[in-house]
Amino acid sequence: MLNVKRTIRGCEKLVNRFYTIFIQDALEALALYAYPWEATHMGRIISVVNQKGGVGKTTTAINLGAYLAEEGKFVLIVDLDPQANATSGIGVDFQALEQGVYEAVLGQVRMKDIVQPTAHQTLRIAPATPALAGLNVELVDMDRREYKLHESLLEIRHDYDYILIDCPPTLGLITLNGIVAADEILIPVQAEYYALEGLGQLLETVNLVKARIRPDVDILGAVLTMYDSRTKLSDDVLQELYKYFPRNIFRSVIPRSVRLAEAPSFGRSIAMFDASSKGAKAYERLAREIIETELERMPAV
Ligand code: ATP
Ligand code: MG
Repeated sequence: MLNVKRTIRGCEKLVNRFYTIFIQDALEALALYAYPWEATHMGRIISVVNQKGGVGKTTTAINLGAYLAEEGKFVLIVDLDPQANATSGIGVDFQALEQGVYEAVLGQVRMKDIVQPTAHQTLRIAPATPALAGLNVELVDMDRREYKLHESLLEIRHDYDYILIDCPPTLGLITLNGIVAADEILIPVQAEYYALEGLGQLLETVNLVKARIRPDVDILGAVLTMYDSRTKLSDDVLQELYKYFPRNIFRSVIPRSVRLAEAPSFGRSIAMFDASSKGAKAYERLAREIIETELERMPAV
């Protein structure tokens, strides 16, 4: 009888010890990860920037946004380009809109009031309208002119997991607003001979913003676009790119794909237009790679 009691007590001790060592530790570790994210959840603001034209900024903003949404994230694309390619490319007719990003940045309407739905349930767009072409001129004489987009996004950044800003192909005041509003900068680089031209100037601009305006803005990384595995040129560009970004070139490389070029004329992301194409798979991988970096962005406890 005594032995049975002692055995039961022994078992209890063993269970308690197991609980303390494994379960409690695991629960604490979980709480440690879950709590700060909940408490400080602000969404990541990523600007897609390259002053070089036609390198795949808009294609990346649309399709990365679509696949982040497919992964269950709440995503807003902000179209900061007067060409409004992101807006039309995701299926919103900007001609029919009375207001867009231009009015929101100038504080004439709230950003949340211009947001439009897309065919993806958790993907929205703050649309550009042709009026945006006048924004540079409007901003020039304003106080805190570099902060206008940043300020207009403050009230909605809690509503989204990701805000992707599609910048125009310049390094002017509009793009400067795009950089100042961002936590991270994503740089699409086309796998072409002259693709690396201007990268030095772009990195210098981001460093200036970091030094003088937003100390917490970081380079998220570079993504190689329109890659053609049949040409040696694409590999040469990739090698050169390592000189600019020794640590942060995305493993996911976006191939040259006719389907990616066709999708915007149907107002569809590649996820809806042709999910089995190689371009679709590449953007899906990129979205997952970016989600993997969420842990690095969590504040230290
Ligand atoms: P801009 O500087 O004018 O804003 P951008 O950098 O946003 O241009 P996109 O509009 O995304 O570049 O792409 C330029 C052109 O290349 C578009 O016609 C687009 O459909 C096409 N394109 C983009 N990525 C790819 C790709 N991976 N394969 C084939 N075509 C592509
Ligand atoms: Mg564009």
